[in-house]
Amino acid sequence: MAQLLDGKKTAKAIRARIKEEVDDLSGIASRRPHAVFVQVGNVPASTTYVNMKYKMAQEVGMLSTVERLPGEIGQQELLALLHKYNTDRSTHAILVQLPLPSHIDEFAVMQSIAPAKDLDCFHPENIGRMVLGLPGPKPATPQGILMLLDEYKIDPYGMNATIVGRSNLVGKPLGLLLLQRHATVTWCHTRTRDLPAACRGADLLVSASGKPGLVHGGMVKPGAVVVDVGTNYVAVTQPGGSMEMKLVGDVAFDEVEETASYITPVPGGVGPMTIASVLYNALTLYKLIEGIV
Ligand code: NAP
Repeated sequence: MAQLLDGKKTAKAIRARIKEEVDDLSGIASRRPHAVFVQVGNVPASTTYVNMKYKMAQEVGMLSTVERLPGEIGQQELLALLHKYNTDRSTHAILVQLPLPSHIDEFAVMQSIAPAKDLDCFHPENIGRMVLGLPGPKPATPQGILMLLDEYKIDPYGMNATIVGRSNLVGKPLGLLLLQRHATVTWCHTRTRDLPAACRGADLLVSASGKPGLVHGGMVKPGAVVVDVGTNYVAVTQPGGSMEMKLVGDVAFDEVEETASYITPVPGGVGPMTIASVLYNALTLYKLIEGIV
């Protein structure tokens, strides 16, 4: 039976360590890290994420600001606001919550955030720095997954790591980070010919497909480490016959926990680690801007 990779507990421990460092460094640098979270429109999920990041940033002793802008705001107005924070010496980190309304060019917005303050690591310059192994922010979810593995002393060195998903947000950068940690990486996607075979070869199997139940017991090598990034809401029938929405991952948990050595739960696995990782990025940017080694 697999051991749980407890993201909730691990993220809490990491936040406590970040707080300690923030408190120590604020004395040296004479100011605290300051993160700005920008939300455009009022998509409920975005409000939840922004509120959570704001609250957690406060909890670790950072200054944080939320800018909530109306969904009809023009792109130029948004870019002007970002320019203000790009040039504000007391701001160390800026995050624009996605998705943006369709009339705004997301790529243009992401490119307009100063790379030195790019909290989500969406700027092409920061992706390039990550690929080259240079200091800087890292994509939050992939970095959070590595932090979780590190906490459980699971070293990807030499492992066959298979990732289901190749998005710019999760799958692609995770594979590159795992390669830097000396894993042998295979990316799978919708055109992969034999997904079960590719998964069965993995010592470390990460699913980031957004397809509930895609990874089932027969696809997992005995003793593999399984990380489930998927965040899917499915309708389930309650005992009284009513329907309720339930959050599930990509992995058929009950089957896979029989075979795997470690497994992340959903919820409580990768999700909390992503937020801890955002805070870690804020601390990284702060240290780079303030010249703290
Ligand atoms: P995405 O952009 O939709 O990418 C999904 C990837 O999975 C694509 O590369 C797609 O292949 C691949 N895929 C989909 N169905 C597949 C199938 N049947 N077989 C093989 N590959 C398949 O999604 P994302 O942004 O990477 O997110 C993935 C999931 O993680 C979502 O459920 C999302 O909500 C969740 N997520 C969770 C967190 C967290 O903090 N917990 C953070 C980010 C994302 P193609 O490229 O060929 O289309």
